Amino acid sequence: NLQSTTTLNNGVKMPWIGLGVFLVKDGEEVISSVKAALEAGYRSIDTAAIYRNEEGVGKAIAESNVPREEMFITTKLWNANHGYESTLVAFDESMKKLGLDYLDLYLIHWPMPSKGKYVETWKALEKLYKDGRVRAIGVSNFKIHHLEDILANCEIKPMVNQVEYHPRFNQKELHDFCKRNEIQLEAWSPLMQGGLFEEPVLVEIANKYNKSVAQIIVRWDLQTGVVTIPKSTKSHRIAENADVFDFELSQEDMEKINSLNIGKRMFADPDEFT
Ligand code: NAD
Repeated sequence: NLQSTTTLNNGVKMPWIGLGVFLVKDGEEVISSVKAALEAGYRSIDTAAIYRNEEGVGKAIAESNVPREEMFITTKLWNANHGYESTLVAFDESMKKLGLDYLDLYLIHWPMPSKGKYVETWKALEKLYKDGRVRAIGVSNFKIHHLEDILANCEIKPMVNQVEYHPRFNQKELHDFCKRNEIQLEAWSPLMQGGLFEEPVLVEIANKYNKSVAQIIVRWDLQTGVVTIPKSTKSHRIAENADVFDFELSQEDMEKINSLNIGKRMFADPDEFT
């Protein structure tokens, strides 16, 4: 069910499905989305400093009857704040906006190799972790060579890597690398921001299981061992996207979905994104 979790390399449990709130407006829109998710049984919410809706996320959490310890809240350090001290400051700002006394997962949003500061930034995350301010730390948009760099220079290895992941871009090599290193892969834009709903192979599989294409993709994420955070602001879709625990895709259908991969990103290459 929606409360089922993966165990991260430090023993912390993270829900397989969460709500993403990228491009969701602060205030009423994000508050009602998070509330709808919590009501539907979600316990994991994925925001970021740059989404500028941490306050609304915090408000929804504060107003909810769900106990804080049942929730799993993720936010991310923005690119402008790379560096040791600036990361510690940015973390405090996010926590103040969220109104939380501890965070569940803090991610470096992008590696920003042009700045050359992600290792130093990682040291700040390690400090926050050791100080008990955050239960797990990780990265986002890290390619294998960025992860190798971190692994060679870290004291605590990342628990999560959140990356673009959907049937058109399934990151097989990176996924295998993460598995070998006990780093949980997490999918962003799992629904390719809505770009896959007419895909004939997915439509056919959806009809076969009497599910929607969104549900087929979320189920594929789970069966490939990837944490997923589909976004919607509509309560019926929020509920729909997580209603995936009453069926299983056959090996054959999994292969069909795997074969949709074209190895092309929708968004920027992390080595070029600044
Ligand atoms: P997504 O792939 O989750 O697609 C969301 C869009 O699909 C919505 O706008 C909605 O229009 C549509 N949709 C959702 N459910 C639907 C349904 N059941 N039926 C029909 N349409 C439906 O896109 P996303 O928001 O880009 O990605 C999800 C989350 O990943 C984000 O909200 C954010 O939290 C995270 N993210 C992280 C990064 C990063 O750099 N770390 C980048 C992008 C997104």
